[in-house]
Amino acid sequence: MEMIKLSPAFKDYLWGGTRLKDNYKMKTDLDIVAEAWELSAHPDGPATVLNGEYQGKTFVEYLDGMGKGIWGSNAQHFDQFPILIKFIDAKQPLSIQVHPNDEYALRVEHEYGKNEMWYIVDCEPGSFLYYGVNQDLTKEAFRKHIEDDTILDVLHKVEVKKGDCFFIKAGTIHAIGTGCLICEIQQNSNSTYRVYDFGRVGVDGKPRELHIDKAVDVSILTPSGKNGEPEGKKEIHDNYSDTLLAKTEYFTTIEYDVKKELSLSVDDSSFHSYIILEGEGTVESEDQVIEFKKGDSIFIPAGFGNFKIIGNCNVIETFI
Ligand SMILES: [Zn+2]
Repeated sequence: MEMIKLSPAFKDYLWGGTRLKDNYKMKTDLDIVAEAWELSAHPDGPATVLNGEYQGKTFVEYLDGMGKGIWGSNAQHFDQFPILIKFIDAKQPLSIQVHPNDEYALRVEHEYGKNEMWYIVDCEPGSFLYYGVNQDLTKEAFRKHIEDDTILDVLHKVEVKKGDCFFIKAGTIHAIGTGCLICEIQQNSNSTYRVYDFGRVGVDGKPRELHIDKAVDVSILTPSGKNGEPEGKKEIHDNYSDTLLAKTEYFTTIEYDVKKELSLSVDDSSFHSYIILEGEGTVESEDQVIEFKKGDSIFIPAGFGNFKIIGNCNVIETFI
């Protein structure tokens, strides 16, 4: 088995910026890069394998060829590869939206629901996002605020800084605000109910569709009381520190700040993904070395065993 490095699929949605090209040296002919899908087996934008036996093939072809065993025992109950990880560069705000939970999404959309996590990789001064409601609301009051275009008045607006972390539980109404550069870890699902789009129109000149009834069905109408704290405290070790960002039944994410060297192991329970946020270095096993720099994505199959991250870097680890 090999560790693999992935090249992302890019999306040039209208609200995107150029920081992923300018600051992360991502190579694409697109003028705007709104999103880079770093760990993606999604048909709308699979990542590409950069090394090894599957070099030049899509991540989907790699997964098909390698078999489901490399997902790990914790992920065997999923029909599709369970995780999608993206960088998102919001030059303009994204629409106000909410995702259903598994129960609702499987019943109504015939796919899994969507829990997601945002890590603020970078942001301009004064950047903010919307995270849940700012007061208890009835379904009727919530619907009226959507219909009157006053939904922003009842949303929890949070000013953000680099390193903040938000777990967007399914049902939490949310939007990424202007100036945020985010690493998003999410369940591999597309069920999104849009409730407000800042009066914008799409490429066809028409407003994008809203999904008010479904949003009213699924939204959590009580404030969460959270403001971007990771789940765990930063723990400092000799050559690195780690912080538990989120631990859920869908995925676990840990941030590592590596000063020189970090020894890790991937057992049979889950694949591991490493997204490089800052710095550069190598991942090294007994018979493999892969160089990386910020913006890169490394995938390690379940059961791989021991390896090291060597360098000065800031990395997000995700597993099931
Ligand atoms: Zn979302």
